[in-house]
Amino acid sequence: MRLAEFLSVQLGAEESCGNPPELGKPGEVPPLLTVTSQLLALLAWIRSPRGRQVLLQGTHPASNVQPPTPDGALSQEDSPYQPTPIQEEVPRGEAQGQQLPQLEEEQRAWQRLEQLILGQLEELRQQLEQQEEELGRLRLGVGATDSEKRVQHLTLENEALKQSLSLTRDLLLHWGPGPPTRAPQEEAEALLELQGRLQEAQDTTEALRVQLGVQEVQLQGLRGALQQLQQETEQNCRRELQQVHGQLAGLRTRMASLRQGCGDLRGLVSTFTQSCQGSLSEAQGQVSWALGALSAGGAGTQLPEGQQGPPTGCPGRLLELKGNIRVLCRLRPGTPCSLVSVEAGPGGTVTTCYRGRQRRFHLDWVFSPDASQEEVFGELEPAVLSCLQGHSVCIFTYGQTGTGKTYSMEGPPEDPGIAPRALQSLFREMGTGGQHRVTLSMVEIYNEAVRDLLAPGPPERLAVRQGPAGQGGIQVAGLTHWDVPNLETLHQMLSLGRSNRATAATSMNPRSSRSHALVTLTLCAASPPSTPGTAGTLHLVDLAGSERAWKAGATGTQRGDPNSAQRLREAQTINRSLLALGGVMAALRARRSHVPFRDSQLTRLLQPALGPGTTAVLLLQISTRPEDLGETVCSLKFAERVGQVELGPARRRKAPRSETPSSLSTDTPLTGTPCTPTRSPVSPPSPSPDSGSCSALGPSGDLPT
Ligand code: ADP
Ligand code: MG
Repeated sequence: MRLAEFLSVQLGAEESCGNPPELGKPGEVPPLLTVTSQLLALLAWIRSPRGRQVLLQGTHPASNVQPPTPDGALSQEDSPYQPTPIQEEVPRGEAQGQQLPQLEEEQRAWQRLEQLILGQLEELRQQLEQQEEELGRLRLGVGATDSEKRVQHLTLENEALKQSLSLTRDLLLHWGPGPPTRAPQEEAEALLELQGRLQEAQDTTEALRVQLGVQEVQLQGLRGALQQLQQETEQNCRRELQQVHGQLAGLRTRMASLRQGCGDLRGLVSTFTQSCQGSLSEAQGQVSWALGALSAGGAGTQLPEGQQGPPTGCPGRLLELKGNIRVLCRLRPGTPCSLVSVEAGPGGTVTTCYRGRQRRFHLDWVFSPDASQEEVFGELEPAVLSCLQGHSVCIFTYGQTGTGKTYSMEGPPEDPGIAPRALQSLFREMGTGGQHRVTLSMVEIYNEAVRDLLAPGPPERLAVRQGPAGQGGIQVAGLTHWDVPNLETLHQMLSLGRSNRATAATSMNPRSSRSHALVTLTLCAASPPSTPGTAGTLHLVDLAGSERAWKAGATGTQRGDPNSAQRLREAQTINRSLLALGGVMAALRARRSHVPFRDSQLTRLLQPALGPGTTAVLLLQISTRPEDLGETVCSLKFAERVGQVELGPARRRKAPRSETPSSLSTDTPLTGTPCTPTRSPVSPPSPSPDSGSCSALGPSGDLPT
């Protein structure tokens, strides 16, 4: 193949198109493109008819072949004709003289072409080096996606360069001058070296790509881990924040209760101080009384009968200082049961074995089943008598239906219970001096309705209201208060009240009390000119029994039996009010600022009796029957909790200014003139002025048990 001829033809064609080629100017056209386009043109020329003709002529003496021009462009005279062995057929003698300068020309043209191609190869090498540098920079680069794109781009370029290089080399080898000169050999070596370096670059690129892939996977993993970590941290933070908020709220509550406790403590301390001062002055009075008695005894004079001893109240001193609700427990007589055992006496215990679990309950006093009414009252008498010094005392019986609450509170006529004995004791203590004025009221709470058991007419539902703000207590509008001049009248009135009380037969008690009964006795002491008078209050509460509806036979399931439905409703309201009482006790025990007295009529009416400075005694009645064991344990638990309630040291109440009380609460100020001792007629008593007219009381009714 005669490359010079091709080039000259090619250049001639391009010149004729007015577009002279400028080989060796890679700045304008990329060398790779130049080489490639020239090679493509060469291939096209070879296939063209002229190329074929030249190729065919190449087998004959090429007298008309144009050698390349000296300025780099090829002319017909500069054709680098390389004689083939066939050309040797021309007689040597004639041809040698003409061919020598032609060969030299061809040689020069070939050298120029060689230099051109070498220059282009050099540029290609430089490009490769630049790409290698680019690759190096990419290795250090940061953007994974950009680097990858660049690598792909470079790889493609490398591939193209490699192909063009190998094509160029093949062409050079194929079309170059016959005997290989030293420069093409070096070119080939350089090409090989370039190939090697290209291969290296490709390998590096591949390795980089793999590395990139690995790093991307790692990055994905790290991103996932980071996200998870962030979520976990966020959740933990939120949880901790909530905990901190909860703790803060708890601390705030605790602080509020501590503040409350602090206030209570201050109150207790001042009350205690007052109580101590009262006790001191009382002791001084007793001492002076004793001294007077001594001196009177020494003088041989007899003291009046009513002044044979010191004033009452001493036995209750311990109770006052303790300030708790005392809890006494009485067991109903019956067949002894191995599941309930007692240690009777002060600080006694009741041990139960229920559902395989043994529990021991500690109480202030435990009465054995055979304890007498007198024995029980003996424990309560000091508290009862403390009312004469202006204390507020509340005694209430609590327990399951049929365990003896009414028996203990009222008792049969032949063996009276706490209430009759208390009245007797009080009147005995007051004597006939008429220094106290006694008023009585009696209500029952039946199905959450408060009814006056001593109303002159038929019992009406009364409204319970909160007393005036800041004065405490509650008011029962329309409640009748009776002045009671003597014990006999008092008994008559109590009998009347009991007979008005709602009772019904249940399977557990043929005369079951279906209501809570509250007897309130107010004892106003006369006020001597020097000292203020006192107003003590005694609340005697006979609670309706806590009972399981099904157990008491009050299920109300018998169709068409109105009594049964009525019993069920009664049982439900009784249990609800006892539950409210439990809530009040729990709040008092925890010294909460809010005590839910308003939850039921029972707790509303008991509010004055359970206020600060009052004395409360709970007489718990329990049964030892195995079938009642669950209820017994419940009652004991309730009593144990009640025993932890602190009401503060007992306080005396100053005498009200009114002649008659208008409220169950001794806290409520009363209107009218100061209370003065009066001697009422034996029968019939007259109701207080605020109670309206009243008919004479009839004979005492039957006593419900
Ligand atoms: P509650 O008022 O608790 O429903 P009661 O006081 O009406 O129960 O008593 C139910 C029955 O048990 C009555 O018949 C009562 O006489 C009798 N009873 C309760 N306790 C005793 C006791 N200690 N001694 C004798 N009988 C008792
Ligand atoms: Mg009863």
